[in-house]
Amino acid sequence: MRRRILLLLLIFSLLLGGCASVRTERSVTFFAMDTYMTLRIYDGDSALMNDAQALVTDMERRVSVTDEGSEIAHLNRSGKARLSPETKALLERALTLCKETAGALDITVYPLVRAWGFTTNRQHVPEEETIRALLPAVGYAGVVLDGDTAILPKGAAIDLGAVAKGYLGDRLAALLRERGVSSALLDLGGNIQTVGKKPDGTPWHIAVRAPQGDGNLGVVDVEDEAVVTSGGYERFFTGEDGTVYWHILDPATGYPARSGVISATVVGKDGARCDALATALFVLGAERATAFWRQHKDFEMLLLTEDGELLITPQLSERFTPNGEAGYRLQVIDRVKD
Ligand code: ADP
Ligand code: MG
Repeated sequence: MRRRILLLLLIFSLLLGGCASVRTERSVTFFAMDTYMTLRIYDGDSALMNDAQALVTDMERRVSVTDEGSEIAHLNRSGKARLSPETKALLERALTLCKETAGALDITVYPLVRAWGFTTNRQHVPEEETIRALLPAVGYAGVVLDGDTAILPKGAAIDLGAVAKGYLGDRLAALLRERGVSSALLDLGGNIQTVGKKPDGTPWHIAVRAPQGDGNLGVVDVEDEAVVTSGGYERFFTGEDGTVYWHILDPATGYPARSGVISATVVGKDGARCDALATALFVLGAERATAFWRQHKDFEMLLLTEDGELLITPQLSERFTPNGEAGYRLQVIDRVKD
């Protein structure tokens, strides 16, 4: 009898132990900010899933440039508007990042993005004269935040699209951590934000999409970090002359950035900054991007050039598994200029 009880106890404890290591996975996929997003969360309840999704839709409703009712659309129409604390915080953050990148990221490039038809899906090459006429209104330094009120210079309009998803990743990760989640993978349309490690305690393996085709450049191992890629082939059109025009513009020229970099990936703790830097480094090109990294060294990057070189920062190279079929030459960046 005693042996039977012991045996039952043993089975019971084995079952219990087994249950403890099973993590509930919940995942939701939806369309927001012009892309498909998937939130995969471990050990969160359904209320948390709803709250996370609501955070996304709330942000989109506030900052979308194409939603006439958004705060940003209203600001762009009237040149002056009171902002909610959420929108103000994102705008402030975006302006800081424009400054840090010395205008390679510039949220006031929007009138040009519009002229190229990228936000309306009516893509075309604008007249040279149109570009020349719109350029003087580009300049993030002219945007004024006075308390809760944002004021734009005459003719200026802003688009937070180059940082919004990264910022949202930070906000979502903070919400999940606050609610006790220690493992989550948030795919915000190519912008990846991770919380903690995988449920089994190993790092997340994130594939870096190749700019063309369905393949990837390789896999990076991350935990509690964002992985953000800006690629020339995400949104583009081919002009009558056969040239490919993509949606990342050089704010200095008003034309799609042709820096030689065709894909820029940034890995780091701060999702908003990663998003901003991915766009900015794409504009800057390999040489200036490398100089920028050497000045800061507080983020990791991966740059693919049109000549087939894949430049990688030293620390990231230690947790990057190259895809042998991607056909590039991998080169680790020197920490100092030689
Ligand atoms: P995606 O949003 O496709 O992931 P990005 O983060 O690189 O890519 O943001 C590109 C978007 O930001 C464009 O669609 C455009 O609206 C806007 N944009 C384009 N060039 C710039 C720039 N140099 N600075 C700021 N915003 C830009
Ligand atoms: Mg970006």
